[in-house]
Amino acid sequence: MDQQLQRRRLVIFPCPLQGHINPMLQLVSILHSHSKGALSITIVHAQFNSPNPSNYPDFNFLSITDGLSQSEIESSTKDVSAFLTILNRKCVEPFRDCLVNKILSQKHEPPVACLISDATMHFTQLVADSLQLPRIVLRTSSPMSFVGFAAFPDLRQKGYVPVRESELEAPVPEIPHLKLKDLPVIKSYNSEVFFQLAADMTNQTKASSGLIVNTFESLDKLALELLNKTFAVPIFAVGPFHKFSSASSSSSLMTPDQTCISWLNKQAPSSVVYVSFGSIASISKAKLVEIAMGLVNSEQSFLLVLRSGFIIDKSDDDKDKNEESYLTKLLPQKLNEMIMRGRGCIVKWAPQQEVLAHPSIGVFWTHCGWNSTLEGICEGVPMLCWPCFGDQMVNARFVSQVWRVGYQLENGLQRGDIERSLKRLMVQENNKEREEMMVRVKDLKEMAELCQKEGGSSFQSLQNLMDYIFSRNSDLKIAN
Ligand code: UDP
Repeated sequence: MDQQLQRRRLVIFPCPLQGHINPMLQLVSILHSHSKGALSITIVHAQFNSPNPSNYPDFNFLSITDGLSQSEIESSTKDVSAFLTILNRKCVEPFRDCLVNKILSQKHEPPVACLISDATMHFTQLVADSLQLPRIVLRTSSPMSFVGFAAFPDLRQKGYVPVRESELEAPVPEIPHLKLKDLPVIKSYNSEVFFQLAADMTNQTKASSGLIVNTFESLDKLALELLNKTFAVPIFAVGPFHKFSSASSSSSLMTPDQTCISWLNKQAPSSVVYVSFGSIASISKAKLVEIAMGLVNSEQSFLLVLRSGFIIDKSDDDKDKNEESYLTKLLPQKLNEMIMRGRGCIVKWAPQQEVLAHPSIGVFWTHCGWNSTLEGICEGVPMLCWPCFGDQMVNARFVSQVWRVGYQLENGLQRGDIERSLKRLMVQENNKEREEMMVRVKDLKEMAELCQKEGGSSFQSLQNLMDYIFSRNSDLKIAN
């Protein structure tokens, strides 16, 4: 058949948060390059946190008016459930309008095969249904946490949720390895808003035409089995995306500070603790001091990411201060001395994948966002886990107890625990625990590499996904 006749168009709608934008753009880049030009890509996106089109010259970008007020934008890190709920409401009409008037009516473009949208953007299912457009869901966070979200109605009915203080350590019924305290939660001031969001995400995924997850079979066999039981739609495990995709860091909303790479170049192999808590997590000034003192007392060299907005309880006076001098005053003198002696480096945003691949990195102290977790595994770096919200508690449990490639700070941020954990994790003479952990994490790294080679599980899943996309046809008859 003529190549031109076979061409299809994919419509994409990402969730405008850093940890969701990265994997969506990585996936789209993978699909585009795998199709060898047979897929034309149109990315419809909110105005908030809009991606930079100049980094993706092969794709078309269409911005829709999200109508978010300043206070709603600020809720994107403070009350993520409320933010996502508002976005799901405000985008319905602009998205529908964009599909009808700017995409489906274009006769000179290839036919639209389907929509791929983020699981959190559940409103897109109803819009797609109304236009007879097949929708495939991308779940960017961990597959096991999606199993957790889907279990909420049942867990609520049986009285496990809201979780009582006395039952935090109890196992979650029917989800192996998880404790009730590990259940995923999207940051919210109002738990009802969160429960509704979880239900909408689950139900609209059940109503979709398929589910793509960023994982690989040998890592997440159990999660994939449970997902298959929960969602009766085809599931495609084609991860780890960032290893398949050449567009790894171009979707960064903040500019990575490359100076930390020259600093890492001067450090000994496996000697540095890389500390980063992703794009949303925030902490109090007192907790930052605990982190700093934990690092100082562990006597390990460190690369610490302190993004702007990370400190949650800045006073009004402090808000106007120059960030650098503010941090220097806030951080303990001993930490500043380590930096002056060349034993530490602080940046606002790091080129994380490059950092994790650097030979001087010995440990990744992470909040266990799913992207960070996969990035750590793929570089074979053991982890110290300090989960905060979302799927992070689920991921930390799997890192520490199932894959056993890290430890978890179970009692929050306390300098003594931090010091002890870092000393256990870093290279020292006769550190058998670390050696055994290194064997396991290197095995996972190898599995991540193998799954993408011909015959590997993700390679095959990607092929299946491509076939599935090309067999979809929106069969749309919209005319202007
Ligand atoms: N990231 C980065 N530089 C940093 C911190 C994070 O490039 O200094 C990237 C990281 O590589 C990952 C993403 O930001 O791809 C964070 O996603 P994750 O799911 O780990 O956490 P979230 O930000 O959603 O909490």
